[in-house]
Amino acid sequence: MNKTENICDIGIIGGGTAGMTAAIYGQRAGKQTVIIEGGTFGGQITSSPNVENYPGIASVSGSEFSMNLLDQATKLGAETVMEQVTGIRDEGGVKVIETTGKEYPCRSIILATGVTHRHLGVPNEERLTGAGVSYCATCDGMFFRGKDVAVVGGGSTALQDAEFLSNYCNKVYLIHRRDEFRGEDSIVKRLEGKENVEFVLSTTVKEIIGDAAVERLILNNKKTMKEYKLDVSGVFIAVGQIPQNEIFADVVKLDGNGFILAAEDCVTSHPGIFAAGDCRTKEVRQLTTAAADGAVAALAACKYIAE
Ligand code: NAP
Repeated sequence: MNKTENICDIGIIGGGTAGMTAAIYGQRAGKQTVIIEGGTFGGQITSSPNVENYPGIASVSGSEFSMNLLDQATKLGAETVMEQVTGIRDEGGVKVIETTGKEYPCRSIILATGVTHRHLGVPNEERLTGAGVSYCATCDGMFFRGKDVAVVGGGSTALQDAEFLSNYCNKVYLIHRRDEFRGEDSIVKRLEGKENVEFVLSTTVKEIIGDAAVERLILNNKKTMKEYKLDVSGVFIAVGQIPQNEIFADVVKLDGNGFILAAEDCVTSHPGIFAAGDCRTKEVRQLTTAAADGAVAALAACKYIAE
């Protein structure tokens, strides 16, 4: 906090890649930042066993990557707070972040709350996450080179994941609960032409089986009502993403899916409040784009404070 007025220059909500990058850029621009995180610092990437698609780092575990980011931000002087944010308000000049126990007055705010992957909610899904269950094919796909895997979902993410995995895996089963895909037809057509991709339609996953790692799925064909086993080493769950922005909806505009309306400049509908990373409307949600947003939002916040 600013020692004289007890007002932080940039209050950052969310301690994932976007939020921590924003803190690094803010601190290096001479601004006092505070990162408020309700869960684990590092966000989604902490659950990735190995990150191999971040430029300049050939390989690093998601947790090590996150720890390095946190270390870098705090060494530069960023404050960290582990509290659940309950809302924000604008008092005309000073913006206030409300948490369960406290209030944090700030000159500007960066919303970097990310998204959570929707889960299937089937037995052993949580236990085997990181041991064959993955929510990110681009992060973890390489570990299944030559193996048989399943992708669950019928949207663009599931289709893209199946296409990506078909380049590395022996066999890719694309399991979707309906007969028609929600995602792009052009990708469906490309997948139809791939020998190692098989569509498993009108089918739901009833259970994931495995001791130390995923071994098979129990599937249910909704038309025949028959249950059967499918042996796979990995299952990539791509059944949608859930933003967590409802508590900001009375201050910034959200799109129909709950993402904060903001373009590449990270500017929201409310002056002085910026959105960075997966929580905003965007096409590509990756580690690199989250980091890029963190930088853009922090520099925009610095400019806003100076005006
Ligand atoms: P999505 O479009 O919401 O699709 C989610 C899929 O998961 C749907 O097929 C849905 O089935 C299925 N599903 C949901 N809950 C399920 C459950 N409990 N069990 C089984 N299946 C379930 O999600 P997304 O594919 O992640 O895409 C999110 C947004 O990003 C979309 O707007 C998409 O267009 C966009 N996106 C764009 C690109 C691009 O390159 N432009 C790439 C990826 C994503 P139903 O179809 O039956 O509802």
